[in-house]
Formats: sequence, C-alpha cells, structure tokens
Amino acid sequence: MSQALPAEVQTYVALGANLGDARATVLQAINDLSRLPNTRLIKASSLYRTAPFEASGPDFINAVVALMTRLDAGELLLQLQHLENRKGRERPFKNAPRTLDLDILLYGNSTINTVTLQIPHPRMWERAFVLVPLAEIAPKCVTAEQLDAVQVQRVHRLE
Ligand code: AMP
Repeated sequence: MSQALPAEVQTYVALGANLGDARATVLQAINDLSRLPNTRLIKASSLYRTAPFEASGPDFINAVVALMTRLDAGELLLQLQHLENRKGRERPFKNAPRTLDLDILLYGNSTINTVTLQIPHPRMWERAFVLVPLAEIAPKCVTAEQLDAVQVQRVHRLE
C-alpha cells in the first residue's frame, strides 16, 4: 500500500549574505531553495541592500522567499544548513560576517521551541531586513505597527 505524502505547508525563509559577491550568492540560494526536495518556490521578494545590524562587515544583501514544502520543519532546517555549509559558512563568533545565512521565519501556523529550532524566528520582529521583504511578498504577515517599529533601520530595495 502506498503511503500518503505529508501535506504541503507554506513557509517563509529569510536569506542574507555579506561576503564575496553577496548578490550572486543570494540569487543562487533562491534557485537552490526552489530545487529542494518536495518543495516549490511560490514567491521571491526583491533584493535589499541593508547596513549590518548587530553584525560586522560590508552591507548585506537580503531577501525573503515563500515556499510550499512537504519537508517537516526539522528537515527543512537541515536542508538550509546544508546550503549554508556548501557556501563555506564559518561561525568564528556570534553574528560574524557570513557568506550565506538562511533562517526559517514562519512554518505554517506552527510554534516550535526546541533547542535547535524556534519558529516564528524569535528575532524577526526586530529586523527591518526581514520585515520589509516579508511585507513585500506577504503583506498579511506583517502589521503597519511592526514595520513602524523598525523604520529607523536603513533598507534599500535594489532594482
Ligand atoms: P545563525 O548562526 O544565526 O544562522 O543561527 C544558526 C542556529 O540557529 C542554528 O544552530 C539553528 O539550529 C538555530 N535556529 C533556531 N531557530 C532557527 C530558525 N527559525 N531558522 C534557522 N535557524 C534557527
């Protein structure tokens, strides 16, 4: 008897890079995300150039994508870490400059609080570089008040 596939879940993933050709890295990562197993890319935001926030190094390139996936949240996290590692990411210290950073922002309506995974991402509401691209592709996920609260952070949408 064939086993039913798990249901598809809508999830939002934030991308960021600030080393090397950050723009090319983010575009390649969006392409890689669209090819994850049992996963479809629904929408990608514009790319944004943002000043480092609680981090060091050159400006970041950021974006957010909406995916539909049959991976569970833990499997998705492992896939994201695999893509980060393929980009040669090192973690010499907290918030160090990074070749590629991928975070799960939302996973359906799930709330997850394990040692390795917190969803909704606990710091997403403090970060314009997450909220602005998320609001672009999913306006219902972000309120005007939440955007107001981060408006002092410099975020520049790229053409
Ligand atoms: P960072 O160095 O900022 O990429 O943080 C990576 C660590 O955050 C990993 O060890 C993950 O297990 C953990 N983590 C917790 N929640 C999340 C999330 N929602 N998305 C991605 N990583 C997460």
